[in-house]
Amino acid sequence: MVEIPKSHPRYWSLYYREKIIEGMEKGITAKAGLIAHGRGEAFDYIIGERTIEPAERAMKAAVAKLLLAEHPVISVNGNVAALVPKETIELAKTLNAKLEINLFYRTEERVRAIAEELRKYDPEIELLGINPTKRIPGLEHERGKVDEKGIWRADVVVVPLEDGDRTEALVGMGKFVITIDLNPLSRSARMADITIVDNIVRAYPRMTELARKMKDYSREELLKILEEYDNGKTLSDVLVHMRDRLTQLAEEGIWRKKELES
Ligand code: ATP
Ligand code: MG
Repeated sequence: MVEIPKSHPRYWSLYYREKIIEGMEKGITAKAGLIAHGRGEAFDYIIGERTIEPAERAMKAAVAKLLLAEHPVISVNGNVAALVPKETIELAKTLNAKLEINLFYRTEERVRAIAEELRKYDPEIELLGINPTKRIPGLEHERGKVDEKGIWRADVVVVPLEDGDRTEALVGMGKFVITIDLNPLSRSARMADITIVDNIVRAYPRMTELARKMKDYSREELLKILEEYDNGKTLSDVLVHMRDRLTQLAEEGIWRKKELES
């Protein structure tokens, strides 16, 4: 990995960019994953590179749903494995959820590379999606493969950084779909039951924290959080946040300003 000076004003952005490049070199991340990462970065700049209130609200609802689920599954793709391998395992363990490697550009080599990466952090971890035997209806062969013990039978699925068409197909199968996506306008963001508009590098650690706390909540308390949650309102609030932030920055002026208000 290229050494990034800690003093660089965009240190973390460059750090995760390097993680993605490293992921590609290890055969974990697909070429299209590089482009997706850049798309995410652009939206993160607009929201202010922090967890905004609508994302926190969506994370609470997502964790409530996952704690109530009978068969929760967290999907892992190439970008997720490159950015947050350890955090993904931690979240799955805290929630008692299964992990499934599920790729848009599925190749056996990439599946193997991702499994190897995750096993660096926990050699014992159970990984589904290695030999998927089922297919999501409506998706062509490679894109639709899922594990019978995982997504196929899941009631709640977390599909971060996911393609919109696949998100929609999962919703069509009757799954409760939670996505993490920095772009509130993406099809995934619009199709999911719960949309967390935040960078996954911030969202997963926060969700683990919430899960640890909310594990002690009663069933009634968790159900109440879900009842009060409105994903349409969340997405609208994200758009309003973006609009207001841009308006404020425009009014204050950004020229030669070293730090922007978040
Ligand atoms: P869609 O298919 O849903 O309309 P898309 O084709 O633009 O969207 P995909 O490549 O299918 O996007 O999915 C990747 C999504 O993940 C993008 O919307 C991108 O903004 C988002 N994304 C990329 N990196 C991150 C990240 N680190 N955290 C959260 N979201 C991210
Ligand atoms: Mg897409």
